[in-house]
Amino acid sequence: MKAVRFHHYGGVEVLKYEDAPEPRVNPGEVLVKVKACALNHLDIWLRQGLTGWSLSMPHIVGSDIAGEVAEPTSPATGFRPADRVLLAPGISCGRCAACFHGLDSACRAYTLFGVMVDGGYAEYVAAPAANVIPIPGDLSFEEAAAVPLVFLTAWHMLMTRAQLKPGEDVLVIGAGSGVGSAAIQLAKMLACRVIAVAGADWKLEKARALGADEVIHRRRQSIADEVRRLTGKRGVDVVFEHVGAAVWEACFESLATYGRLVTCGTTSGEEVKLNLRMLYGRQRTLLGSFMGGKGELLDVLKWVGQRKVKAVIDSVFPLAEAAAAQKKMEEGDFFGKILLRP
Ligand SMILES: [Zn+2]
Repeated sequence: MKAVRFHHYGGVEVLKYEDAPEPRVNPGEVLVKVKACALNHLDIWLRQGLTGWSLSMPHIVGSDIAGEVAEPTSPATGFRPADRVLLAPGISCGRCAACFHGLDSACRAYTLFGVMVDGGYAEYVAAPAANVIPIPGDLSFEEAAAVPLVFLTAWHMLMTRAQLKPGEDVLVIGAGSGVGSAAIQLAKMLACRVIAVAGADWKLEKARALGADEVIHRRRQSIADEVRRLTGKRGVDVVFEHVGAAVWEACFESLATYGRLVTCGTTSGEEVKLNLRMLYGRQRTLLGSFMGGKGELLDVLKWVGQRKVKAVIDSVFPLAEAAAAQKKMEEGDFFGKILLRP
């Protein structure tokens, strides 16, 4: 089969479109013919060797996958050839206490497609049957592939970790990213007031089109000052954050008393300062979040299948042009998901 692999860590030039062996399908696994695979920042960090995980080489990344069940797939898996499916990105053992509690990402064996197992930058991928989910509603393969990682992440952050309540004020950092565009829509489903932050006017317009009530241009405006103005000096109930050092202080300052800050990423750096007096005095909560459980993915897919929320698609590249797609992501010149089509 054709796949995009890298044989050593490096820049986009290490991505090679080449022949690779078809995946071995173990008992209990489903072979999926990949029709669409969405990019995530994780793909870039893996390629650069920045994750601390030691990857098998040559390596195939890609965690967000949709496609058709292919042969050989045993009927015992419950799937038949040509079934339209998407893959839950997180793989866990399925039989430890964390897994049984639905806390998949706390499983000791937890990994993602494209990390310790081959991912979706390829024509075929083998998946444990527990990860294979029928595509809900009439979603296209591209729409289906654009959903799992960002909507699962945003759902786990807002609903499970931050316990978002109807009508609360929510500050969404990085509104132009996949996870930001998912967060805006999920918060609006709970009739929250969303203040979206991005670094370009065209991104702020798109954020408004997705339902953001207020927008802040992070290059032209002070996030904390604008939040203070928009909330009558109160601050927001929830800050949805995944950028890290560059916005940390502004995010923390923007929290109301009893506000919760939930974070899932550090694209701009991971070391920050924290004023403990403002933490306890204002009774604020800091929450870390990482992926989520398959049950949560099924919850959010119900909304996606009814088109109450949608994955925002920026662009679709042929698989052979994976390097150009990743370059676009590195340059930040996108809104929503960038996809590959094998
Ligand atoms: Zn487990």
